[in-house]
Amino acid sequence: MPAHLKLRPRMRRLLSPAVTQAEGIGIVAWAGLLMIHPAVEFDMVMLILSVCLLVVCRLHHVTEHFHLWRVLGVVYVVVLAAGFAYVIGFHDELRIFVLPLAVTLVISSAILFISVQDYLICATLVWLILWPPMQTDIYADAHTYLWMFCVSSVSIGFILSFSYLKNLRSVLLVESEFRVMAETDYLTSILNRRAFMQRFDHLLADGQSGYFLMLDIDSFKTKNDLYGHDVGDKILCAMAACLKNAKGSHSFGRIGGEEFGVLWLGDDAALACDFALGLLQAIRRSVAAPHSYTCSAGMASFVAGADLSAVLKEADKNLYAAKRNGKDCVYLEDEPVAAPSSATVP
Ligand code: GH3
Ligand code: MG
Ligand code: MG
Repeated sequence: MPAHLKLRPRMRRLLSPAVTQAEGIGIVAWAGLLMIHPAVEFDMVMLILSVCLLVVCRLHHVTEHFHLWRVLGVVYVVVLAAGFAYVIGFHDELRIFVLPLAVTLVISSAILFISVQDYLICATLVWLILWPPMQTDIYADAHTYLWMFCVSSVSIGFILSFSYLKNLRSVLLVESEFRVMAETDYLTSILNRRAFMQRFDHLLADGQSGYFLMLDIDSFKTKNDLYGHDVGDKILCAMAACLKNAKGSHSFGRIGGEEFGVLWLGDDAALACDFALGLLQAIRRSVAAPHSYTCSAGMASFVAGADLSAVLKEADKNLYAAKRNGKDCVYLEDEPVAAPSSATVP
């Protein structure tokens, strides 16, 4: 999906409050017209139009459906314009206001839409609806001027809508690029420590339970010293690729130099251990000799609302046990997890 389309839901969330306020002003103006003018008699059509305006405004505010949201924006402006045209049609003394009303509606609706096409459709419909009430004595000989107002109001609205949407898109694009950069580890392109821990925190707050694996590459310093830092970097990338390919994990990230974290959701300890052993197996096979490497893992279970630092501490303790007892193995609750021979590659 193109980047600017991905931004649309976020643009919509940012525009929504202003859209609701602008629609509220339209409804107040409509109610003002009905109440202030002494000659206006409230009839069934006005009642239907008023109810439509309120319902459309409410739906526009609450709907989650993106395309419906776009359509409702146009429907709102059309119903408002039709309402004004209907009332003014019965009261000649109000016809003088049709031109300023059309210009105001067309220019102010420039901020209501997420695409310039939607705006142009809306502006065209407003002028089509309000054009007939303008064909009276006051404007009868002023068609050239009416056209000038029509073209210039739509042009100004178009420029406003276009530049405002363009600026909003570029600000959001830059923001999302920075967000990705802030969450991604530069070398391996997986989550960095901060983003991974945030996800973990959210999982705990959401009431999820599962297992946390703290993985540390064995004797990595020796690899660096023997083959160079660039080979070390390739090993780190190979490790990240193994985590990406491992089926069943919820999320994973690089939480330190040669340390990685993996989250596995579920309460079945046997399945979680199979996953961990399979992962170590895949890691062992991921790079050919002489650069092949292994890693050790410390596991810790977590339940809803668990303390993040306590889980990390527990996993770290198990990782230390794995390192102390020969490396290339997994520890859970101070015990080694079943022999790697029973593991399945994820
Ligand atoms: P152990 O089996 O006990 O974990 O030993 P180790 O050598 O893996 O652990 P140690 O903490 O002694 O060394 C970690 C090394 O990781 C030291 C550091 O140079 C290396 N390292 C950290 N970040 C990077 C990196 O981004 N690239 C490379 N190539 N090496 C890194
Ligand atoms: Mg380490
Ligand atoms: Mg290490």
